[in-house]
Amino acid sequence: MRKALCILVAVVLSTQSSATSPAALVTEAEIPGATLRITVLQPVDDEKAAELVDWLRSASTNVSLAYGRFPNPSTTVIVQPTSRYSWGGKSPVPFGRVMRDDGERVELYVNVDRPIEDFYGDWTATHEFSHLMLPYINSRNKWISEGFASYYQNVLMSRAGHYTDAEAWKKLSDGFERGRRSRPELSLNEAAEAGVRRARMKIYWSGAAIALLADVQLRERSGGRESLDAALDDLQRCCLPSTRTWSGPELFSKLDSFVEEPVFMPLYRRYANRAGFPDVAPALQRLGVEINGSTARLREDAELALIRDAISHGANQ
Ligand SMILES: [Zn+2]
Repeated sequence: MRKALCILVAVVLSTQSSATSPAALVTEAEIPGATLRITVLQPVDDEKAAELVDWLRSASTNVSLAYGRFPNPSTTVIVQPTSRYSWGGKSPVPFGRVMRDDGERVELYVNVDRPIEDFYGDWTATHEFSHLMLPYINSRNKWISEGFASYYQNVLMSRAGHYTDAEAWKKLSDGFERGRRSRPELSLNEAAEAGVRRARMKIYWSGAAIALLADVQLRERSGGRESLDAALDDLQRCCLPSTRTWSGPELFSKLDSFVEEPVFMPLYRRYANRAGFPDVAPALQRLGVEINGSTARLREDAELALIRDAISHGANQ
């Protein structure tokens, strides 16, 4: 069965399908813990194709900043150049998805008219690669897969130096606010069942909120020995890549088995079937994240400033 994750924007792509486009470049890239098999499809010139491979090496290495290696040792990446679509044309990477029909394949549609420098600051590839840190999750619990990828796209872009700490926390805070305003009458599971066309922001950012709450709780109670990074590290060692569909409770129970006291299932029981949005305001306040208009101020004297910095930089506090 074809399983697709994360159709980021509902663009109508006026390109050939990836199955029929000739390859401009087929190559492999060694990154920490993995070999990427990369195919850049036509139309693209040789110089741009080589630049895109260098960018993919960088974007995939971002994900190794979670626990030291890429989650799938053998991943296929397909790059489909496009410069014409109905909307969403400003992004260098307007569309991406993970396909899990025969191994794991990440497909990225790229705007080859944009200078390569712009690609490094774009979060789409980091988001898509971050999906590989989890198995395929059923549609009712899709907020977990989209949310964890949305959390990590910001955390990992910060760790890689593409966002400042303040930029990353501003983007997370803005996302939580968009999620809080989206379909407040629905629970997380109901939003996922409604689908991304009806509840996109709720699906993406409620799951990111759960990821943040779990991460902070793990780091705080363990003095930094435990973290979301470490739990996902254990998940990869035990269970990934996985060829089957997991439920959210199954995943969260497995993650809880790697930590001293359950964190994930208590969050699931508290929020998954309740209307509204996970309450992240107290955690952000304790982390010292203050939003002033278009910028975030990070308080160095905040109670959990060290945890905030550990999340931003990928080190134990
Ligand atoms: Zn996604």
